Amino acid sequence: MNPENSRTDAADQVRQHSRRSILRAGAALGAATALSVTASGLLAPSAAAEEQISYDVIVVGAGYAGISAARDLRAQGYRVLVLEARNRVGGRTWTDTFAGHTVEMGGTWVDPASQPHVGAELTRYGIGLVEDQAPERTFLPTPSGPQEFAPAQGFGNLGLVYERIFEGSPQYFERPFEPLYRSDLIGPKDKLSLRDRLNQMGLTPEEELLVNGQTAVYSGGSSSSGALTMLAQWWALSGHNNAGWNNTMRYRIAGGTAALLNAMLNEAQPVLRLSTPVTSVTQSGGRYYVTTQAGRSYQALGVVVAVPANVWQTIKFSPALPAAQTTATTQGIGVKTGTKLWINARSAKGRFYAQGKEGGSPITMVVPDKYTAEGQLYIAFSTDPNLDPNNATQVRAAVQQLGADLDIVSIKAHRWGSDPFARGGWAFRKPGQLTSLYPAVTQPAGRLAFASGDIANGWSGYIDGAIESGRRAARDASVGI
Ligand SMILES: Cc1cc2nc3c(=O)[nH]c(=O)nc-3n(C[C@H](O)[C@H](O)[C@H](O)COP(=O)(O)OP(=O)(O)OC[C@H]3O[C@@H](n4cnc5c(N)ncnc54)[C@H](O)[C@@H]3O)c2cc1C
Repeated sequence: MNPENSRTDAADQVRQHSRRSILRAGAALGAATALSVTASGLLAPSAAAEEQISYDVIVVGAGYAGISAARDLRAQGYRVLVLEARNRVGGRTWTDTFAGHTVEMGGTWVDPASQPHVGAELTRYGIGLVEDQAPERTFLPTPSGPQEFAPAQGFGNLGLVYERIFEGSPQYFERPFEPLYRSDLIGPKDKLSLRDRLNQMGLTPEEELLVNGQTAVYSGGSSSSGALTMLAQWWALSGHNNAGWNNTMRYRIAGGTAALLNAMLNEAQPVLRLSTPVTSVTQSGGRYYVTTQAGRSYQALGVVVAVPANVWQTIKFSPALPAAQTTATTQGIGVKTGTKLWINARSAKGRFYAQGKEGGSPITMVVPDKYTAEGQLYIAFSTDPNLDPNNATQVRAAVQQLGADLDIVSIKAHRWGSDPFARGGWAFRKPGQLTSLYPAVTQPAGRLAFASGDIANGWSGYIDGAIESGRRAARDASVGI
C-alpha cells in the first residue's frame, strides 16, 4: 500500500480540513486544544492536542466496506479518520505472495456483469479483469465413490440440480437487491435450511452427492446451518441461471483485490492508523468517542463501524448495540470455520477441480490456479476445524479422499474463523436471519452506521456487498453534518 496513506502526523489531519471544519473543530475543542499556525498558514493541532482533535466521521475497519465509506466521505469534503486493527488494509481480502506468485488469501472473484458496485469501481479507476483458466479434469462424488467427469458434463449436471433447488427464485427474489420485496413469499422460504430444501426435493443419491458438498461448504460445514435464501439470493443476483452463477467464480481483479482497494484509498487520502484496534464507541452529547486498545480516544460527529458483524460483540458500545446488531453478532453471520489454502504441488492428476460430499473429507473443494516452476498452484477450501491446514500429509490425504492427488511442495493457509479481527470467513446467513434481521441490521443508530459485506442488501458475502454497504453507511453517518 501507498505509505502516504499511513502517515499519522498532525499535518495529515490538517491536510483534509476544510476551513469551515477547522473553525468548527476549534470551537468544539475550546481552550483545551492548542492550535498553532503552520508554515503553510493552515491551523495544525499541537502534539498534545492531536489525540483530542475531532473528525467529521471516524471509520472503524479498513476492509472494502470501510474504505468505500471513507472514499465517499472524503469526496464530500469531510475530515475522516480510519482506524484499522491490522497492520494492513483489506480485511478479508488480502493480496499476498506465495511460491513467487500473487495470491488472494480471502475474497478473490468478482463479476462486474452481475455485481454493479464492483463494476462501477473498476470502471472509475480503469482497472481490468483477468479470466481464470478452466479446469481440464473434474472429480465429483458419486454413490460408488469419487469419479472423474469431463468438466462440461460435471458442471452441467451440477447446474441442473441447482436450477431445481432454486425453482421459483424469480418470484420470491423478484428484485434480488431488495431481498424483502416479496416478503409474502420470502417468509416461508427463509425458514428453510439448505438441508431442508435438499430433503424436500426427492433428489436421487447421485444428485444429492453432486450438490451437498457445495451447499455444506458455503454454509460453513453443514447444509443444515445455511439458509436456502442465502444461496438462492446469490443465484438470483447472478440472473437466476447457472451460466451467471458460474461467472461469479471466473474473473479476478487485475493486480489483485489490493489494486482496486488501493485505488480507492489513494483517492480518499483519509488519515489512516494501522495496528489500532478499537475497543469502544461511546455517544455523548451529540458526539461519538472512539477509544483504541492503546487507550487513545478520538471524537467525531459520526462513526462508520466497518468491522465484520461477528466482531461487533468485541467492541463496547454505549448506548448498547441495537437489538438487530446484537442478535447478528451473537448468532454470527460469517462462517466460523472458513479456511482457505493455497497449495503448491507437483500434480499427479493435471489441472483438476475436485469436490467432496458433505462430511466426506476435511477439504471440500479444490480449484486449479496458476502453473508454477514446480507444477501447479491450487486453491482449497475447508470448513473442518480438525484439519491442520499447514500439515501437508493431512492435506494430501484429504485431497485423495476426493479422488484426486497432489504431491505437495508447500502450503499457505489462513483460518479466518480463528482470526480475531474476522472471527469468521465469508458471510452465509442462517435460516430465519434474512427476515428476522433485515432491514433493521442495516439501519444506523443516529449517526452510528454499520457497514459490512455481511449485511449488504445485495451481494452479502461478497466484495460487491461490502462496497454497497460502505457507501450506504457513509450517507447514514454524515446526515446533517
Ligand atoms: C476465504 C474467503 C473467500 C472469499 N471469496 C470471495 C470471492 O471470491 N469474491 C467475493 O466477492 N468475496 C469473497 N469473500 C468475501 C469478501 O472477502 C468479504 O465479503 C469482504 O471482503 C468483506 O469486506 P468488509 O469490509 O465488510 O469486511 P473485512 O474485509 O473483514 O474488513 C473489516 C476490517 O475491520 C478490521 N477490524 C476488525 N476489528 C477491528 C477493531 N476492533 N478495530 C479496528 N479495526 C477492526 C479488520 O481488520 C478488517 O480490516 C471471501 C471471503 C473469505 C474469507
